[in-house]
Amino acid sequence: MIVGSGPAGYTAAIYTARAEMKPIVIAGALDAGGALMTTTDVENFPGFPEGVQGPELMTNLQEQAERFGAEVIYDDAVELELEGDVKTVTLDDGTVYRAKTLIITTGSAYRKLGVDGEDTLSGKGVSWCATCDGFFFKDQEIVVVGGGDSAVEEATFLTRFGKSVTLVHRRDELRASKIMARRAEADPKLSFAWNSEVVSINGTDKVESVTLRDTVTGQESVLATSAVFEAIGHLPRTDLVRGKLELDDEGYIVCEGRTTRTSVPGVFAAGDVVDHTYRQAITAAGTGCQAALDAERWLADTAANLHAERAVAAAAGQ
Ligand code: NAP
Repeated sequence: MIVGSGPAGYTAAIYTARAEMKPIVIAGALDAGGALMTTTDVENFPGFPEGVQGPELMTNLQEQAERFGAEVIYDDAVELELEGDVKTVTLDDGTVYRAKTLIITTGSAYRKLGVDGEDTLSGKGVSWCATCDGFFFKDQEIVVVGGGDSAVEEATFLTRFGKSVTLVHRRDELRASKIMARRAEADPKLSFAWNSEVVSINGTDKVESVTLRDTVTGQESVLATSAVFEAIGHLPRTDLVRGKLELDDEGYIVCEGRTTRTSVPGVFAAGDVVDHTYRQAITAAGTGCQAALDAERWLADTAANLHAERAVAAAAGQ
């Protein structure tokens, strides 16, 4: 069974299905396909010289897995039992699945700023998804927070809608890749609030402004805006396995060396839920492939060991 359905989950499904392991993918009730479902152009996934839309890429991966017999279930896993020879996955609707191996590919969730106004104004101007919500802010002032590829991509995308877009970054240099940074800096509708952190998001029924603090001088200022798009990175989605698998200090699943083996035999992990460093669709897909191969070998070794143990027991009994 595969829990999670981003590039890692669907790639694991393609490989395990082709190995006739009859994989079942627990894809999620609302977020099947993972983070790429809310992305637009993906220009760096190999094999697409003209780029590909994120949702199209994920639909292709899913259909490729299903073509070889993978079963995709649109519900959330709410409980995992990992110990023992048979692992169980309980879904939100109460269905319980049993499997000999599990591959965890639950990805990551949006990081939040943790400032006043963020929760109360969520859905009223505070958003984590430009492709989902950008349209609502046509001809309005928009703020994007962050300095990585996501923030730059969202800000550039939002210039289609907004009267102006201000990218608020806590340093004076972007973390984003050079090509995306250059594109953003050349965009006339995009301006930058460097060395600035968000102190609060203000408004009663909807976002009206943000209070910014200059990280060098400490001076505070208020910037009028109708929307705040947060793109400040992600946190691994490990709630289901906390206390059951070894996690590192930042909550990512720990794997043995260069394998996808977790601290529990028969449980493997791949994609952003283990990856601090690369966090690309293609690296997630690559580790999904590794997890499928690791799981296949583990099953073969377990079957061989069982066979050997039975032969020894039979010989001892004679
Ligand atoms: P990221 O690279 O981790 O960048 C997070 C940004 O948010 C950083 O600039 C960071 O500032 C800032 N930040 C973090 N916590 C903050 C806080 N509490 N307050 C204010 N700012 C905060 O995350 P990402 O942009 O989501 O990208 C994740 C991965 O996906 C990367 O590997 C990226 O290359 C990839 N990605 C690729 C594409 C593409 O190629 N099309 C698109 C999106 C993402 P500092 O810089 O000061 O640390």
